[in-house]
Amino acid sequence: MKVEIITTGTELLLGEIINTNFTYLAQELNRRGFDVLYQTTVGDNPERMEAVLALAASRADVVITSGGLGPTRGDITKELVAKFCGTDLYMNLEVWNHIHTLLSKRNICIAANNDKQALVPSGAVVLHNETGTAPGLVLEHGKTLFVMLPGPPFELKYVCQHELFPYLEKKFPELGIIKSRTLKLKGIGESNAAEMLDDLVTHQTNPTIALYARNGSILVRLTAKAASTEEADAMLDAMQEKAEAVIGSYVFGYDGETLPEVLGRELLARNRTIAFAESCTGGLASSLMTDVPGSSEYVKGSVVSYTNEVKNLVIHVSKTTLDRKGAVSEEAALEMARGVREVIGSDMAVSITGLAGPGGGTRKKPVGLVYIAVNDEQGEACRKFNFSGTRTQIKNRAAMAALGFALDRLKEHTVQKISEETINHHGADR
Ligand code: ATP
Ligand code: MG
Repeated sequence: MKVEIITTGTELLLGEIINTNFTYLAQELNRRGFDVLYQTTVGDNPERMEAVLALAASRADVVITSGGLGPTRGDITKELVAKFCGTDLYMNLEVWNHIHTLLSKRNICIAANNDKQALVPSGAVVLHNETGTAPGLVLEHGKTLFVMLPGPPFELKYVCQHELFPYLEKKFPELGIIKSRTLKLKGIGESNAAEMLDDLVTHQTNPTIALYARNGSILVRLTAKAASTEEADAMLDAMQEKAEAVIGSYVFGYDGETLPEVLGRELLARNRTIAFAESCTGGLASSLMTDVPGSSEYVKGSVVSYTNEVKNLVIHVSKTTLDRKGAVSEEAALEMARGVREVIGSDMAVSITGLAGPGGGTRKKPVGLVYIAVNDEQGEACRKFNFSGTRTQIKNRAAMAALGFALDRLKEHTVQKISEETINHHGADR
């Protein structure tokens, strides 16, 4: 199935915006078995756009346009495609209603030209756009299938995911379906994960396997292309087994699951409460945990013990430790966890103390050095990390590592001696 993608808009030709709509469409369509063979960018000029449409129709089975569906005079895509196909436009009441409801919900005055967006070529299929006023449109003309999509990237993606891709899958069932599954890892950096999965990645065909780093977690995405959902599921199961044989111990969840959610669920299942003593993360770990609805069931409270004074007065870290070992030390971390658990009365407590930078580092205690300790019924344990990155990245990595540590601890259920572990999370987040 030959596809040509036409992106419209003078902004693109002036180099003012990057053509992300093309990248998105090309990736998604190639994954679905379409052959994207041509891409054209054209300005908002009727003659040139007509010529581009005619050329595309002569060499592709599916012609997809992006942009130019807006309410203004410069938005001409729909009109020109309809003209090329020899159809007229009619006022579609459903679209008209949607536009009026959406604009009044947003408290926007309805202008006369908004009604232009409710004009639909006769015989076209309307791709509903919940996120904006211009719907996507599909119009068949001879052997060519014209697809018109709105320009704003957020709207284009919405229409593709909710309307166009399901439509194309039904229309061209022989191209099969695409299904993805994501394994989410913690406690490992991107480069280490890549090294461990190297063999699978090098020999990948179908399913494909790809590695991403997002918000302090590493994601491994498996994507299968198959004739049916069942077949894709079976292929994903087999690939998941292979991947987990290598990196299974780092997997904390799947697909949309987040580390705070998984930790919350495990705490709830064990009827345990948690508290945090946070120094360099300034409350971030607690914030991430409390982003999850229902977290009051297991997050009992936290202390942001940013200064030595608060570490000592509120959560009873000894002055001797602070003077002799410093606030960024294994001893201080252990005392912070012990103290906050006592003060708050939780089943488990996690402390975070470190240097987020950019200043303040020394040779002995460089920026990125973070101690995380856990105190619970089984005893206490401390881990040492050397994170890299900006201040924000270090804070984020430290908070995620703290949640990961708590999760390991919950799952272990065994007494752990104080251990020292250095993980270089180089590039584990972006
Ligand atoms: P509108 O109702 O906003 O006018 P439209 O369907 O007419 O929508 P355009 O006017 O072509 O679309 O584009 C709207 C905005 O969407 C552009 O100003 C630009 O910010 C963004 N946009 C358009 N095309 C692309 C593209 N190919 N890649 C990335 N962004 C784009
Ligand atoms: Mg426009």
